[in-house]
Amino acid sequence: MPPLVSLRKTSLVDYPGKVSAVIFLPGCNLRCPWCQNRELVLPGDSAAAGRPGGFIPLDEALALIQKRKNVLGGVVVSGGEPCLFPGLAGLAAELKNLGLPYKLDTNGLFPPVLRKLLENPATRPGYIAMDLKLAPGRYGELLPGPQNSAVDPAAALAESAALLRGSGVEHEFRSLALPGGRFGPGDITALAPLAGGAPWHFRPFVPGNCLDPAWNSLPATGEKETAPLAETARRPCKPGRGIAQNYGAEYNIKSIFCTSR
Ligand code: SF4
Repeated sequence: MPPLVSLRKTSLVDYPGKVSAVIFLPGCNLRCPWCQNRELVLPGDSAAAGRPGGFIPLDEALALIQKRKNVLGGVVVSGGEPCLFPGLAGLAAELKNLGLPYKLDTNGLFPPVLRKLLENPATRPGYIAMDLKLAPGRYGELLPGPQNSAVDPAAALAESAALLRGSGVEHEFRSLALPGGRFGPGDITALAPLAGGAPWHFRPFVPGNCLDPAWNSLPATGEKETAPLAETARRPCKPGRGIAQNYGAEYNIKSIFCTSR
């Protein structure tokens, strides 16, 4: 039986510079309490089952994408965590065979998968977005239980970030401005060496369908929270070495980061 996925047929915001379709693959190795993708992270969960999931077989999603390939500039492969999907390389190759570049959204904890995709021209992404959720030393807060005790998130994040930096593939890093300072300057300082000079976007937190329902009563964040984070992240080591461009609530960071603030 083909895997079930969620499909956004058209998006103007998920693949920079392209009209895209977005395939959401179910399953994730993390349990970020603020996650809005309960249906993807916990597909069998009763609370998730009560919501309109809109899941369709992957084959059907691909057929819809094929029909619309002339109006699409690319496809985003997202999740959940798409690197958990055993058929990811096949899916990547299939999309590229349709003449559609694909963007991979990942949490960066699967560098071997990333390396394989990058090494093979038939599966190489056209764009990669990698999340930087918390300081690497805090990822234990997001791992669901002892089955993940063998995972070394800091090493995996560093390896994935190095792969991105050396890949020649256009990429970006993304962080969420969590409420109450739950993501702060200390996290940025710890993460800055991973981002290097690549674009680093800071997005607001919006409560509503959080994996941890307690987070739904926390306040939304906005530019008031994203701006200081962006300002901290863009502080260059040497004056005048970097610039930051303001895209409203998000910031594109092109600085060389100072790691010892
Ligand atoms: S936010 Fe992303 S990485 Fe975190 S639990 Fe949700 S899908 Fe997984």
